[in-house]
Amino acid sequence: MKPLKKDYAPIFPQPAATETVEIAEGIFWLRFSLPFALDHINIWLLDGGDAGWSIIDSGFEDASTRAQWEAVFTGRLSGKPVETLFMTHFHPDHFGLAGWLQHKTGAPVQMTPGEWRMVQTLTDEDSVEQLEQLYRPYYTHAGVAEDVLEKLLNRRTGYRNIIHPPPPETVAVHPEQNILLGGRLWQIIGGYGHSPEHASLYNAEDNILIAGDMVLPFITPNISYFPGNPPGHDPVDLYMETLRRIRAAVPDDALVLPSHGIPFRGLHDRIDAILEHHTARLDKLAQVLSDGPQTGYTAMQGLFAHRELTSGDVFFALGETMAHLVYGVRRGHVIETFNENRILYQPAA
Ligand SMILES: [Zn+2]
Repeated sequence: MKPLKKDYAPIFPQPAATETVEIAEGIFWLRFSLPFALDHINIWLLDGGDAGWSIIDSGFEDASTRAQWEAVFTGRLSGKPVETLFMTHFHPDHFGLAGWLQHKTGAPVQMTPGEWRMVQTLTDEDSVEQLEQLYRPYYTHAGVAEDVLEKLLNRRTGYRNIIHPPPPETVAVHPEQNILLGGRLWQIIGGYGHSPEHASLYNAEDNILIAGDMVLPFITPNISYFPGNPPGHDPVDLYMETLRRIRAAVPDDALVLPSHGIPFRGLHDRIDAILEHHTARLDKLAQVLSDGPQTGYTAMQGLFAHRELTSGDVFFALGETMAHLVYGVRRGHVIETFNENRILYQPAA
């Protein structure tokens, strides 16, 4: 098996807080710290000459990120307008300051309709209430204790409290579309399983992939199952299909610009390692289930037995476990039975 934690030799020096590093002509790397275990995010600034800057992702809504942006606006970005704010997906570390940047620059925010719909759902009181009504029984059936359940619920429904108020509207961009950003033509590659309709960007001429969260060098993106999707929703399958599609569309020697970690080369190897990782997790889950019927929660404890899970981790770990259980159920490898307000999972005979 390919090692999942591979050391990539840095191709470029890492930018300091408000500095940028040019990684190709007119493409600048900006790195903001994040107040989580995942402690930073990469932002890409694309210089479109007289047309102005295109900015990829916005960072997390906090005072330190806003202060760093202010410094970047008087530094690297000074003297030219911002033309476009392009968001890879709705997650708060990426989209958190989209509304703030929009207000500051007047530039339109571009994102896929799937991601924008998610922002709208999670910032609307009524739809958040409806979500809660879906999530409560879902977490109960998964065997989550009452006190933990409230925390998990808040992780999802508290989205609107941790982002800057979103822009009033966004410009829709679509997978497969070619879009001019920073003087280069980029093909939008749709990504599924990590968020509703993630957008990666590939420029064939210079062989550069702005990967967003789809392919990361040191970690794998969280692939979670959440209720509220149409029947048959299968995030692990969607994500693996996305990886195979990116592998077919983008050459191995592309320069990959990920949202977390460092720019790297060796895309196909990395994709193969992540695919193998999910296959190994499915095998491990089958082993956990062979010990006897499990709820989602106890299956999670088995699947993550190698790690100490903090209460913050449980949200992602349970989502990840449920996604892999759904994958097994969909293929007839795992059967689910309903028992005393819990759903139990076991291997198919
Ligand atoms: Zn993400």
